[in-house]
Amino acid sequence: MLLRDISGIGEKTEKVFNRAGVYQAEDLLDYYPRYYDTFEEPVLVRDLESNLTQAVKGTIVRECTIRRVKNLVILDAYIRDSEGGAIKATWFNAPYLKNKLQVGSIFVFRGYVRPHKMALVMDQPKIFTESEYDALKGEMQPVYPLVRGLTNNQVIKATKDALTKLDRKEDIPLSVRQKYNLEDAKSAYYKIHFPANTKEFGIARKRVVFGEFFNFISKLHSLKSDNEKAINTHVITAGEEIDQLIENLPFKLTNAQLQTWEEIKNDISSEHVMNRLIQGDVGSGKTIVATLALIATALNGYQGAIMAPTEVLAKQHYESFLELLDDNNIELNVALLVGSMTAKEKRETYALIENGEADLIVGTHALIQEKVVYNNLGLVVTDEQHRFGVKQRETISEKGDNPHVMVMSATPIPRTLAIIMYGDLDISIINEMPSNRLSRANCVVDTSYRSNAYRFIEKQVNEGRQAYIICPTVEYSEAVEGENVVEYSQKLQKILPSSIKVECLHGRMKPAEKNEIMDRFARNEIQVLVSTTVVEVGVNVPNATVMMVENAERFGLAQLHQLRGRVGRGEHQSYCIFVDGSKDKNKNNRLEVLCKTNDGFKIANEDLASRGPGDFFGVRQSGEFEFRMGDILNDSDMLKLASDAFNELLDGKLPLTEEERRDLFDQNVSNINI
Ligand code: ADP
Ligand code: MG
Repeated sequence: MLLRDISGIGEKTEKVFNRAGVYQAEDLLDYYPRYYDTFEEPVLVRDLESNLTQAVKGTIVRECTIRRVKNLVILDAYIRDSEGGAIKATWFNAPYLKNKLQVGSIFVFRGYVRPHKMALVMDQPKIFTESEYDALKGEMQPVYPLVRGLTNNQVIKATKDALTKLDRKEDIPLSVRQKYNLEDAKSAYYKIHFPANTKEFGIARKRVVFGEFFNFISKLHSLKSDNEKAINTHVITAGEEIDQLIENLPFKLTNAQLQTWEEIKNDISSEHVMNRLIQGDVGSGKTIVATLALIATALNGYQGAIMAPTEVLAKQHYESFLELLDDNNIELNVALLVGSMTAKEKRETYALIENGEADLIVGTHALIQEKVVYNNLGLVVTDEQHRFGVKQRETISEKGDNPHVMVMSATPIPRTLAIIMYGDLDISIINEMPSNRLSRANCVVDTSYRSNAYRFIEKQVNEGRQAYIICPTVEYSEAVEGENVVEYSQKLQKILPSSIKVECLHGRMKPAEKNEIMDRFARNEIQVLVSTTVVEVGVNVPNATVMMVENAERFGLAQLHQLRGRVGRGEHQSYCIFVDGSKDKNKNNRLEVLCKTNDGFKIANEDLASRGPGDFFGVRQSGEFEFRMGDILNDSDMLKLASDAFNELLDGKLPLTEEERRDLFDQNVSNINI
């Protein structure tokens, strides 16, 4: 159904919804709240706490005043509660409220309370009559993620209408729902948006999460049955040259790397095709293992390809290939294929790939374009698998004639879960860090530490090093609090001496622009890179020694761990500075965990434990396994149940109707995305 068929959505609002990723009426059902607001009993002014959203009931005691500050119109109202406690409330650009807020009238005001000149003020509170507020009390109001121009009320209204006009298709067979106590899709989706209470929400959430996992597993199953035990038509033996190459490396491979390399060698020389997941924390050295396999593939006369999630990373892999081959006098041709190349460059590269002149191919999603025709593709590697969908891994291997498949991931999940999530793959784990690493020094600081941090960065740069500074947002927006890279980099350039070049990097830049910035950073032409989390995946600039994260409280621990994995990659001592920008200090002890351990696995677990009980949707973990609601760690019990249920269906222990069987087993795999 078109978005415009929803009442209240016209051409303009439709565009705003589009920016939030909602394109069709159906998308509204999946546009889940971030959390729910509950309307507590109003409190007295003297019981208000700063830096929280609260409600007070009070009388307007004076005529409201209106002042102008720059281009803002500010309305102040003076409120007194039943015991004489007074507070001022302030609204921006809403002078019309003056008519509503007549002297003597009584309202409930609910808003964010902050200290101001020895007193408290309430920012832009919502205004309710007593009876309006009573009606809301105890209810859970969904709070949606918003973009500029979109209000929470608009989303609520649109979602309500979508829920009445659309029926969510049932996607869990009846027998499964009965056995596992799951309600039907229609009511679950209603309650996800508008639960009457937390219990109802819990039941609905269980249903939705189970559904996500169940469908994922059934889709994975259809991949698995295709892959099972295919005959190895690209037998690869790693010979003398590879041993020599390992000898020549500037470091000694860790035991875990060697073990994994053995497993790979066995696979690719065996009777069956390899399908292997290489799991290892950031910095554990997965790339070199993949590189060995790829070079062995090419030396055996087959093509090898590696797909990376970003151009920056693809280029980096490409360059390290060239260097390694050159250092070892191995004559192989490496081709790079990324989206930002010109049409002509692409055509030339396609030709090299198709006629077999390219032995090794490094690229992004561009590698799975229709136009790319491989020539005897023997091994396909996907780096940072969690950034791709299962489908993309599948597409690239379909481009060859049963090539070996290797996927690499830094997602720290226990083996039992990995077996379900990557059901079609064997698993190698690199559970050891290279020993030459100097430890990273970590600290959590508040914003008052900034100037020290800048002086420290300056010192590091003077010693020849480089720094990353991460901000949560790209540019200023009223809707989202936090530092933004555009303004931050300008500000910082003024603070630091002009000999230090500061640049910014973010996802809205064109790929070519991003590449250029990253190249210059890699060459140390830029010393301080102010970036969003686009640098989080895989980037390797060993000379960078400082990772400073602004608004660290806004990130998940696992994500912060990924980010700090960008430093400590070389021979120099590295430093991570997590700047806690939150006003509520108690809440953020969780950041301290980063100082206590460097183990990605422990951190992921801690990430779960530190989420508050109201934090239903959890901290999004850098896009890994993007289920819309489920979290494979947090909901691991559910994941196992969904896997059990699916096996029971396969074994015929639970019945299926004809229609359910068709839906479950003849579905198109194109819409899976982990
Ligand atoms: P990740 O597993 O996060 O992809 P990389 O493969 O990028 O990590 O490796 C991180 C850095 O460690 C690279 O600079 C790489 O050259 C280096 N490295 C890899 N293996 C070792 C090792 N055994 N000893 C020392 N350094 C290593
Ligand atoms: Mg990597």
